[in-house]
Amino acid sequence: MNRAIVIGAGLGGLATALRLAARGWRVTICERSASPGGKMNRWCAAGCTFDTGPSLLTMPWVFEELFADIGERITEQVRLISVHPLAHYVFADGEQFAHSALLPDWLATVRRLERGRADGFLRYLTLGSRLFELSKATFFRSSPFDRPNPAALSALKYLPLRHAWGSYAATVNHFFRDTHLRQMFLRYPTYVGSSPWRVPAMLSVIPFVEYAYGGHHIEGGLYTLIEALTRLLCARSVEIRLNADVVAIEKKAGRVAAVRLADGERLRADVVVMNGDVSRAPALLGRPGSNSLPESERSLSGVVFLWAIRGRLEGQSHHTVFFSADYPREFGELFDDRRFPTEPTVYVNLPGRTDPTMAGPETEPMFVMANAPANDADAWDAPMIAEARRRVLARLHAGGFPEVESRIVAESVWTPRRLADTYDMPGGAIYGTHSHGRRRAFLRPPNRDWRVAGLYFVGGSTHPGGGTPTVLMSARIVCDQIGTDIRHPAR
Ligand SMILES: Cc1cc2nc3c(=O)[nH]c(=O)nc-3n(C[C@H](O)[C@H](O)[C@H](O)COP(=O)(O)OP(=O)(O)OC[C@H]3O[C@@H](n4cnc5c(N)ncnc54)[C@H](O)[C@@H]3O)c2cc1C
Repeated sequence: MNRAIVIGAGLGGLATALRLAARGWRVTICERSASPGGKMNRWCAAGCTFDTGPSLLTMPWVFEELFADIGERITEQVRLISVHPLAHYVFADGEQFAHSALLPDWLATVRRLERGRADGFLRYLTLGSRLFELSKATFFRSSPFDRPNPAALSALKYLPLRHAWGSYAATVNHFFRDTHLRQMFLRYPTYVGSSPWRVPAMLSVIPFVEYAYGGHHIEGGLYTLIEALTRLLCARSVEIRLNADVVAIEKKAGRVAAVRLADGERLRADVVVMNGDVSRAPALLGRPGSNSLPESERSLSGVVFLWAIRGRLEGQSHHTVFFSADYPREFGELFDDRRFPTEPTVYVNLPGRTDPTMAGPETEPMFVMANAPANDADAWDAPMIAEARRRVLARLHAGGFPEVESRIVAESVWTPRRLADTYDMPGGAIYGTHSHGRRRAFLRPPNRDWRVAGLYFVGGSTHPGGGTPTVLMSARIVCDQIGTDIRHPAR
């Protein structure tokens, strides 16, 4: 039996281990933290259950496919719930609307805002659908450096798409005239930690997949998925070593040979899959140079307030976004000035609105997030957290959200610094590198090391990018690459 070591028990690491075990590999996962899941983490307080990281799943078939590929049925492991409406949006000028997943309702909203017209939205959706057809056979299926397959070649017919290659913001502005719809669609590149003014229009695939395939929650919280994967790994005799920090990847004759743990233990390996941030790999290999990612290349981080609220928040949606008045200024502050925005856009997630199992008998979980730069120098000490909290609460108050400050019975705060320290990621950059410019958007760090045979990379910091479905895609791509490399060892 070939032996694989996976460094990190994030979603990508767990999925890779499951896929390799299903192909007959003997797999050990080494995770530096005390629990599996990485950024998909859980906190429980005052009767409430919180997901501390992801709160929205898109592309549900990617999750179904993982279970199906290992001979399991997702419905027997977790219950996916489609969330309606997709989100509620509140704007600084007082406008607000629900992003309904029901097309007639949504078209009525678009027509109200676009003075009777909805053709811009429908044409934008068409562009997104064609980009999706292109992506699913190419970008989502294999690494850009792999040999193209027949499906990828036939998908190239979608390449000459008008509006697909320009700036994302210019494309949104082309299809929509209403400023609220523009701001709503401009937010989607933050799903990959990037600015709408700097990414290519190809990222219009993100609003398309959310609209076409829905936004999903998992009953009991998204962490339930991590529990299910962990259960299946144990059933397949995959060893998950917690508190096992890998400090070196050892090589022999140009191939991986073993990993070394902080306590000195050495674990032999035929293949090593790094699920930690890819920028940390050179140091593990003993290569000279930086052990980090330059700040100018990092995706966004975020500050998250988890509040257990006394009572119920009746009438609120599962997902609500309270937009700032000046979106260009907010992104200028995040990426140029590299500071927490003066007036942040605030995202509120109330899972208890859809899933009562996450609420306590007299309390309700509230997840509140604002984007923040992934800086090394920011202290995120008590005064900085207090100021961010004040700005977030001010935005909620101005947007008409019920007064909650006096009803907070338990609180946990995740700052960029805490994210960086907990998961060992540069500056707390949630998605590794940003996707600014075509090169960075499409040529993300590859899934294998070209200089060391048997070393692979999986997860949000590598191809095809951050976010739970793309991380699962990267696990499939890595396992396919390993399968091919084993059949053709010279590659
Ligand atoms: C606040 C927040 C909100 C988010 N919202 C969403 C959302 O709504 N929807 C969505 O799809 N995605 C969202 N994401 C992104 C999503 O969580 C990530 O893209 C995904 O979970 C990353 O998975 P990964 O496989 O890259 O592993 P990670 O979660 O990055 O885990 C990597 C693991 O490797 C371990 N590790 C690192 N180095 C070592 C080492 N040397 N030795 C041993 N172990 C090591 C780390 O401790 C960690 O556990 C969000 C993330 C955050 C933080």
